[in-house]
Amino acid sequence: MSGQSEHIVVIGAGAAGLMAARKLARAGRTVTILEARERCGGRILPLPASEFGYPADAGAEFVPGEAPVTRGLLREAGLSVQEIEGTQWSFDGTRLSREDRHDPDQAELHDVLGALQDDLTVADFLRRHFAGPDYDRLRHSIGRMVEGYDAADPERASTLALREEWMDGGRHTQARIVGGYGALIDFLAGECRGLGVTFRFGCAVSAIEETGGPLAVRCAGGDLHGCDRAVLTVPLPLLRDIALPESARAKAASAGDIGFGSVIKILLRFARPWWRERNEDLADMTFLLSDQSIPVWWTRHPDQHPVLTGWFGGPRTAELATLDRHGLIEAGLDSLGAIFGMSRDDIARDLVATAATNWLHDPFARGAYSWATPRTREAQAILACADGPVLFSGEALYRGASWARWRRRWRAGWRRRK
Ligand SMILES: Cc1cc2nc3c(=O)[nH]c(=O)nc-3n(C[C@H](O)[C@H](O)[C@H](O)COP(=O)(O)OP(=O)(O)OC[C@H]3O[C@@H](n4cnc5c(N)ncnc54)[C@H](O)[C@@H]3O)c2cc1C
Repeated sequence: MSGQSEHIVVIGAGAAGLMAARKLARAGRTVTILEARERCGGRILPLPASEFGYPADAGAEFVPGEAPVTRGLLREAGLSVQEIEGTQWSFDGTRLSREDRHDPDQAELHDVLGALQDDLTVADFLRRHFAGPDYDRLRHSIGRMVEGYDAADPERASTLALREEWMDGGRHTQARIVGGYGALIDFLAGECRGLGVTFRFGCAVSAIEETGGPLAVRCAGGDLHGCDRAVLTVPLPLLRDIALPESARAKAASAGDIGFGSVIKILLRFARPWWRERNEDLADMTFLLSDQSIPVWWTRHPDQHPVLTGWFGGPRTAELATLDRHGLIEAGLDSLGAIFGMSRDDIARDLVATAATNWLHDPFARGAYSWATPRTREAQAILACADGPVLFSGEALYRGASWARWRRRWRAGWRRRK
């Protein structure tokens, strides 16, 4: 290696892979990115502005709270954000109403959470501290919140990891990137190219082999890439499919202690904002929560684009696993019909463009994002330890306090709704 810069292969051209590649290239390494898809961005998936009227996001959409890394990057890229302000509504099966800020169980929940010393799963926490019929409502609402927003399984999810979010009360602001998350990916990819990073698309890595000296990274199509070190940024479920050298395999096994949840996201663009026209109180509606099969909806407010986005997360998305894109859109229209007391056909009449993604079915994501079990911090520390030629990175390894804040605001609303 003397005289030559270290060659590093980064696997995955999502946000984490691009950030790693940029940093390594800036530090003088020779960097190649191997990406299974034909595009950068991974779980950041822009939809055509020509269809939606703006660069809509089928994956990540919100910038959570302070999000120092993201906001720093946005400043570097000269991109701005639009903060989200407005009212949150709910549908209780009969009527639409503005969120009621009063929750009778909240003070007691906070007291018990505040006194908690040792971690336990959310389901165990509820069984231990909130058993009995008096707490039926609380247990139900927390179960739904953990599933719906964290996309997590209450039988495995960590109570301590969620405590901060629950006690936050939804005070943190949220924003959207003007130009969508795709603009950030374009910026990072451009930076990488400017630094001489090589991109190889359509390369699904199947194995990393130790050859006594350098590593050999094998792609499903048969390509072989030699390098000194490799950085794996693939989503957790994809790790299982990649054959790894012994030491890396042992580390990768700890990924089993990090949860990974699924999300269905639906975007419906209409010719006109019929919900605002029907009820002028909804003019500044942001989020709308319900118990329909696609339970959560949001508008583009304060933008005026007449687009409604539907959201369903967690283990119960399995109930809709057989639905294709068309079936998901139908489920979305049925849910909106029930919420607004309109026929499905009346709503569909104004449709201009649609998109629906069940992220579980995306072959290179197999879900949406990670969530914490009581053993996740330990697993993250093992995976993040840079002690061999194969390194691990990516969303599931992020240990900052705000790692799930983008979901807080809805969570607070969900909690109050029950
Ligand atoms: C529907 C949805 C909504 C979300 N909303 C938000 C939000 O509002 N705000 C927020 O902050 N976060 C949100 N997230 C989470 C956010 O998208 C992710 O945390 C982030 O994009 C992950 O980046 P990453 O680089 O770690 O992983 P990825 O973006 O998944 O990148 C990994 C890359 O690896 C590639 N890959 C996979 N397998 C292989 C292989 N074998 N060989 C080579 N390449 C491979 C993939 O194609 C992908 O490009 C959302 C996620 C989803 C799915």
